[in-house]
Amino acid sequence: MSFTMFGIGVSGGIAIGPARLLSHTSLEVSHYAVQPDRLAREVERFDAAVGAVRAELEELRASVPQGAPAEVDAFLNLHLMILNDSTLCEAPRALVLQQGCNAEWALKQQMDLLIRQFEAIEDTYLRERQVDVVQVVERVLKALLGSPSLVSTGSSRDSPGILVAHDLSPADMMLFKEQQFAAFITDVGGATSHTAILARSLNLPSVVALHHAWPLIRENEIVIVDGTQGVVLVNPDRQVLTEYRLRQEQWDLERQKLKRLRSTRATTLDGVDVELHANIEFPNDVELVRRVGATGIGLFRSEFLFMNRPDLPDEEEQFAAYRSVAEAMKGAPVTIRTLDVGNDKLIEQGPRVTSNPALGLRAVRYCLSEPRLFNTQLRAILRASAFGNIHLLIPMLSCRAELEQALTMVEAAREQLREEGIAFAENVPIGGMIEIPAAALALESLLDRLDFLSIGTNDLIQYTLAIDRTDDSVSHLYDPLHPAVLFLVAHVIRTANKHDVPVAVCGEMAGAPELTRLLLGLGLRSFSMHANHLPMVKQVVLKTTLTDAEPLSRRILGAYDSEKIQSLLNKLNA
Ligand code: PEP
Ligand code: MG
Repeated sequence: MSFTMFGIGVSGGIAIGPARLLSHTSLEVSHYAVQPDRLAREVERFDAAVGAVRAELEELRASVPQGAPAEVDAFLNLHLMILNDSTLCEAPRALVLQQGCNAEWALKQQMDLLIRQFEAIEDTYLRERQVDVVQVVERVLKALLGSPSLVSTGSSRDSPGILVAHDLSPADMMLFKEQQFAAFITDVGGATSHTAILARSLNLPSVVALHHAWPLIRENEIVIVDGTQGVVLVNPDRQVLTEYRLRQEQWDLERQKLKRLRSTRATTLDGVDVELHANIEFPNDVELVRRVGATGIGLFRSEFLFMNRPDLPDEEEQFAAYRSVAEAMKGAPVTIRTLDVGNDKLIEQGPRVTSNPALGLRAVRYCLSEPRLFNTQLRAILRASAFGNIHLLIPMLSCRAELEQALTMVEAAREQLREEGIAFAENVPIGGMIEIPAAALALESLLDRLDFLSIGTNDLIQYTLAIDRTDDSVSHLYDPLHPAVLFLVAHVIRTANKHDVPVAVCGEMAGAPELTRLLLGLGLRSFSMHANHLPMVKQVVLKTTLTDAEPLSRRILGAYDSEKIQSLLNKLNA
């Protein structure tokens, strides 16, 4: 039977192949009594399983390739730590002997105990680590049951398969690299999940939030994954298959052609230069940034250095990371955003999660409430400015008082460095992210104190339309073309241009080629996006005549009906 499923496309491209189901231990473990004379053997069986998983995780850690995101290592360490905790690797042995039960049952009891303890933890980051406990226990259970962690039992290993899973951990993702899957799809997860971020960095087409893919798709069934549209087609008929094979070839051909644009300057047909910068999460991402020919880094999401670890990175560690990026970019601008934690981006020692975290102590609000942590980061960023062209970007500004406080903190960090005789660039430009509607509307109250602006459309849309960007049940309402969103974006660009303050867009809108002409027509000349999107956006810039785009963009801005907006946009992009 053929059927189609819709989810959230988190990494573009088309892949076609046989389904490879990731074994999903339901954790419904059987419970049986073990004869007293066999208990020692049962304990040995348990030890062997733990040993096998330990070896597997260690082997994985040793095989993490050089360019892999730093968080992969952190996750593998975390899983090893959980496995080596006596609650999991020792206590079940005692339970087997005391209760005369099978090892699986003893392990399950310990897992339940651990989960209850985690549930009682107030800190959300730590509480959520129970997912990791379950993942580790699943691995041991699979080893006990004699199956490898990644089951993918498919007969034919010749063609790379499509990995179908309920959920995936970053550790699993690393295995996929080895096993050469062509794409992955999952039932749960959001576009901003760690796994999605890893998928993008591995350049694998992927769709998440499919809800029922794992129970509905069977091993070896042919699956088409359209990671751009977020569509999955199962058992397609011959005609559909041919159509998608064609689209896949076109996509690959297009990618090849786009590679040639690497060193072409992004200039419109009427000769206006446009800056195309890249967003990064980890210092290692710079390699890809350089490969696609980005002229700078428009957004370094520094919070990723703080995630998936029990401690905070100190000044030296942060300095080394920022400096390495600054040096690798060889004088091109590197915009480091100060810590943007809270809401969905959690760190162990971060803000306490409240009932409305998106509206709570996030980003600059949190940094201002933790002056020591903020000072450490500001010092590290300023110090890195002696080694490259660093710009400093403050997220989530909502009012002038907040900006003034942040600027005072920057000045205090500068003063400390001067007194200590530590080198830094005196003129590091300081910018503000415009991602709260209040900041966009009252822009003039911030403008004279900022050297540049960066519009964070992801949050601007979230707050303007009151849509939780991580909640897939309202993702259909997430609309960059909503008149209110366009009004705010256009207002910020126009106001910044009028005051000669450089302005960029660094949210997902900047990387959407179908919106490039519209943004150019509204006066934007600087875009920052995931490096994988840059060639496509550059191609649109190269084919755009501003004098044609401007009047049509103004008409889109004046339209209120979504059908009308879409038809004008189609005309603009024709
Ligand atoms: C944004 O909000 O648009 C943005 C770029 O920041 P982040 O996605 O990290 O919140
Ligand atoms: Mg944001």
